[in-house]
Amino acid sequence: MSYESLVIEERSTNKKKQKPETKEIPFGRKFTDHMFTMDYDEVKGWHDPKIVPYQPINLDPAAMIFHYGQTVFEGLKAYRTDDERVLLFRPDRNLARLNKSSERLSIPALDEDKVMDYLLELVRLERDWVPSFEGTSLYIRPFIISTEPNLAVAPSKSYTFMVILSPVGPYFSGGIHPVQINVEDQFTRAVKGGTGMAKTAGNYSSGYQAQAKASETGNADVLWLDGVEKKYIEEVGSMNIFFKIDGEVVTPALNGSILKGITRTSILEVLNDWNVPVTERKISIDELAEAYDAGKLEEAFGTGTAAVISPVGELNWKGKKMEINNREIGPLSQELYDTITGIQRGRREDTYGWTVEV
Ligand SMILES: *Cc1c(COP(=O)(O)O)cnc(C)c1O
Repeated sequence: MSYESLVIEERSTNKKKQKPETKEIPFGRKFTDHMFTMDYDEVKGWHDPKIVPYQPINLDPAAMIFHYGQTVFEGLKAYRTDDERVLLFRPDRNLARLNKSSERLSIPALDEDKVMDYLLELVRLERDWVPSFEGTSLYIRPFIISTEPNLAVAPSKSYTFMVILSPVGPYFSGGIHPVQINVEDQFTRAVKGGTGMAKTAGNYSSGYQAQAKASETGNADVLWLDGVEKKYIEEVGSMNIFFKIDGEVVTPALNGSILKGITRTSILEVLNDWNVPVTERKISIDELAEAYDAGKLEEAFGTGTAAVISPVGELNWKGKKMEINNREIGPLSQELYDTITGIQRGRREDTYGWTVEV
């Protein structure tokens, strides 16, 4: 591998930050000593890849990111194994998805192979930041912002790609447990033809009102329905959703408004491998309620990098309360959780070739 163009400027040892000393690490507030940056302009394309000390950045107040939200991001984790290796889980999928999101937001594509090298180099440098406490990891946040100072409503002519790293604690403090979810019947997350299939800022800030409404009534998250009919189930907050109904696993088909989760893809592959019947199709909230009334809704769980599996113990939809599996984690949810986290942490054999050692 050649890194002729990657410049590494290390923070001096006496300025290094304190690493977390327990597993109680609040999400997304502490960052490591270094970050990666690379710029884009029309003449040079993507250029000037650098690893530098973590620091604030300078932007013109007219930078386009502030006005029209032309930006995309990714989220993945580095895990420390019991034998002190550091593993990433399917990072190639994250870079491919970043480029897909960029395409939707009219942002120029990155060279996935080169960026993979830079990413590995950054995590290698920050290796000691990958925490070793049970359930912890180093969260990796790649993102691109539009930087041209220009108020015209048009794609920016310059961008910055950055990667920052943040040690994170277990998603569930006190162990994996089912959560209560509100089925949103007023607000919309995304519609077909919109940006729902991209990881882009506006999809998240536009969900805050629904999130606030859900938490007022004790719900941990929002289950989004399709934006047109408010009928078909799409996904939960920043997770995809699966149901086990009468022995069959069902997840909403990718329709252009749902984010294609890497955890979702992996779970589909594992279920197929286990010969568990699983289908990707349209599923309406009415069908789900009927299955519940008939006693056939056996398990429900959200999937995403943050929690891997987040069991759903209760769904609230227009005053109807559906309690799933006595609010306990179901056997299939548990087995999927153990399998995927086992592979991620090097405790189960990675027969799929999903992990990349740093
Ligand atoms: C990131 C995200 C997911 C989960 O994707 P993973 O690749 O599994 O982490 C699901 N839905 C939304 C809206 C997301 O932003």
